[in-house]
Amino acid sequence: MNIFLTPNKKALVIGASGQDGSLLCLSLLKKNYSVIGTTRNPNESAKNHLTLGIEKDLRVKSCDITDLINLRKLISQENPDQIYNLAAQSSVGRSFSNPSGAIESIANGTLNVLETCRQLKYSGKVFFAGSSEIFGNSDQAVNINHPQNPSSPYAIAKQTSFNLVKVYREIHRINCNTGVLFNHESPLRGNQFVTQKIISGAIKCSKNKNYKLELGNLGISRDWGWAEEYVEAIQILNNSDSNKDHIICTGKLTKLTDFLSIAFEKLDLNYKDHVVINKKNIRQTDIIQSFGNPEPFYDDFKWKASLKIDEIIEKLIEAKIPH
Ligand code: NDP
Repeated sequence: MNIFLTPNKKALVIGASGQDGSLLCLSLLKKNYSVIGTTRNPNESAKNHLTLGIEKDLRVKSCDITDLINLRKLISQENPDQIYNLAAQSSVGRSFSNPSGAIESIANGTLNVLETCRQLKYSGKVFFAGSSEIFGNSDQAVNINHPQNPSSPYAIAKQTSFNLVKVYREIHRINCNTGVLFNHESPLRGNQFVTQKIISGAIKCSKNKNYKLELGNLGISRDWGWAEEYVEAIQILNNSDSNKDHIICTGKLTKLTDFLSIAFEKLDLNYKDHVVINKKNIRQTDIIQSFGNPEPFYDDFKWKASLKIDEIIEKLIEAKIPH
């Protein structure tokens, strides 16, 4: 990708090597932003940046969000127009085996960004990636004021982050919002997530009829969106003068078994012939069902997710089986 235009605004993306960070950097670059993206491993180009072809246009800086001094130096030196904080140990499962990693990267990380903004009297906009996991189970589409019931160290860290953002906005007048994100997918999503396991597993089954895909609890349902669309919603929020937190979701609930059926059927397979349950994949506390209400975001910003679940699955499969 080549950017020939003069950059008009500077954005700092903290956590730029992951799924959302990479897609957000690409989108900002296309909009003629000067983009600084952070990673803890600046010496090698992130795989996702190479996949998207943005490694030459992005200015990559080293940053561990748990290091307040380095973070303050970075924000003070670069003085970006806007900041996006996506950094997180982002796997719910991993947060059970490494709870302090989740708390440090998410709760302490958010506090470090907010404290830096307060100390530097930063006046630009700051976005924080929240998570629907804060709500726990829900039999109705959740709104931003829905009671919170986190059930993992990851969700507790995101809840703390959410509350810190609110406090710093209200008490210290920092220009910040949380976008509470429901699950969203792309070919860049890490292999540890169930959607990627299913897509890779279905493809393996299409090549080897004896292959068995080991999963955990099949009785869950989620509100799955498309990451490329969600990074647009994130930018809309961070370019607005909104002083509220928002839910970013599709509002559509899909059973995991329907996700499996669609993925396997697209490869002329029946998931029931291939999927086996391995108890080690079953969490003690798993959210059974969770979906959001997309209407408030639409009412405020006229944005809604457009890709349907079968289109999302189609795209995930296509990305792994190039024509
Ligand atoms: P990824 O796991 O793909 O990316 C996470 C990023 O965080 C990586 O770039 C990693 O960078 C960075 N990171 C991790 N720990 C630290 C740290 N201590 N200091 C600095 N950077 C760190 O996540 P996604 O892109 O999928 O998600 C982006 C955000 O959205 C996350 O906060 C996630 O919790 C949230 N979210 C995502 C959802 C989804 O469905 N994708 C749903 C709900 C919320 P590196 O290793 O290079 O340093």
